[in-house]
Amino acid sequence: MRRVSIFGATGSIGQNTIDLIARDPEAYRVVALSGGKNVAQLAEDARKLRAEIAVTADAALLPELRARLTGSGVEAAAGADALIEAARRPADWVMSAIVGAAGLPPGLAALEQGATLALANKESMVCAGPLVMQTARAHGGAVLPVDSEHSAVFQALIGEDLGAVERVIITASGGAFRDWPLEKLAEATPEQAAQHPNWDMGQRITIDSASMFNKALEVIETKEFFDIDPALIEVLVHPESMIHALVGFRDGALMAHVGPPDMRHAIGFALHYPERKTLPVARLDLAKLGQFTFRAACETRWPALRLAREVMQTGGLAGAVFNAAKERALDAFIDRRIGFQRMAEVVEETLNRVSAQSGLIAAGITLDNVHNVDHLARVTADDIMKK
Ligand code: NAD
Ligand code: MG
Repeated sequence: MRRVSIFGATGSIGQNTIDLIARDPEAYRVVALSGGKNVAQLAEDARKLRAEIAVTADAALLPELRARLTGSGVEAAAGADALIEAARRPADWVMSAIVGAAGLPPGLAALEQGATLALANKESMVCAGPLVMQTARAHGGAVLPVDSEHSAVFQALIGEDLGAVERVIITASGGAFRDWPLEKLAEATPEQAAQHPNWDMGQRITIDSASMFNKALEVIETKEFFDIDPALIEVLVHPESMIHALVGFRDGALMAHVGPPDMRHAIGFALHYPERKTLPVARLDLAKLGQFTFRAACETRWPALRLAREVMQTGGLAGAVFNAAKERALDAFIDRRIGFQRMAEVVEETLNRVSAQSGLIAAGITLDNVHNVDHLARVTADDIMKK
């Protein structure tokens, strides 16, 4: 039996992961499940999967979680330290599906105990890619991508020589506003931004898809995951979301990964790797679909893409600053304190201000340094938004 843990179990990726695991209960022993405010869901899944421990990130909800788990034999715990403790419990495969920089510490703890980390939490790679990869190497673990584009690139690279790669193209649906006139973007509301044309995902990543901050994070994630020269990474708008990524080789061949927009493919691939097992995803009828379309990704409409290139050029802890500023700007947009386009301005100004404080961004990528710079970027972004 494989021992598995799922961090962010109550979210969109977490629930899709549980869907796959629950189809074959004999094959898995569930160690830890974690969630946030939705303790009812967390308790229900922990009972159903007979987890060893259920952890809510919200300490105030521990009594409710305990009450819901009474008599189940599942331990209950809460808070950031409990998350780390749960991630240290031996498991063979750990899903990292918390949203935001909060996913980094439990992911590192899971790698430190030698687990294979299935990484949906792209923020870990953006904030601390080299640290994540080095931790995996040091403890004999592995990191497998769960983001659909990165799973696609990973699959296209199997058996290939990285030196023969000429370009890596990750696709973007363009999100909720891809067809809106630019002038109208100033009025965009959080509810409108949270309507994704193709994918059913958490609220934050869906809004990040409309602003392309999600793709910006993914460009940086591509560089960190595959150690690819940023100059070789391209973003292509593909409204149908059927081709997830393409890898171009020096002989001119482009290897595309095609599939329906269903995260259970990428999750299942990471769960069964290196085997391929039957997955409950729809099979495409290409004749019925008829055509796929593509457009260039416009950096005037989506300035986040330009910022991602600047972050990669700066290197060091710039990714952690970028992500933290984005998280605060997104909070402010969701709370209607700032407009849709203001998010990119806030992130750019935060990057400029924090970069101006000499030495900070160039400090080594350790968990402490990531925490410090993350905190500074949040305070700076809040200060910028006060004005
Ligand atoms: P979601 O909002 O649906 O779920 C997030 C999960 O994290 C929940 O379990 C929530 O309780 C937990 N959580 C939130 N804040 C937390 C905190 N501070 N500490 C601990 N736990 C916390 O998000 P999602 O859409 O499932 O995305 C999860 C991650 O996967 C994100 O990094 C996202 O970018 C990435 N991802 C998601 C998709 C998708 O299809 N949803 C695709 C690719 C990558
Ligand atoms: Mg993605």
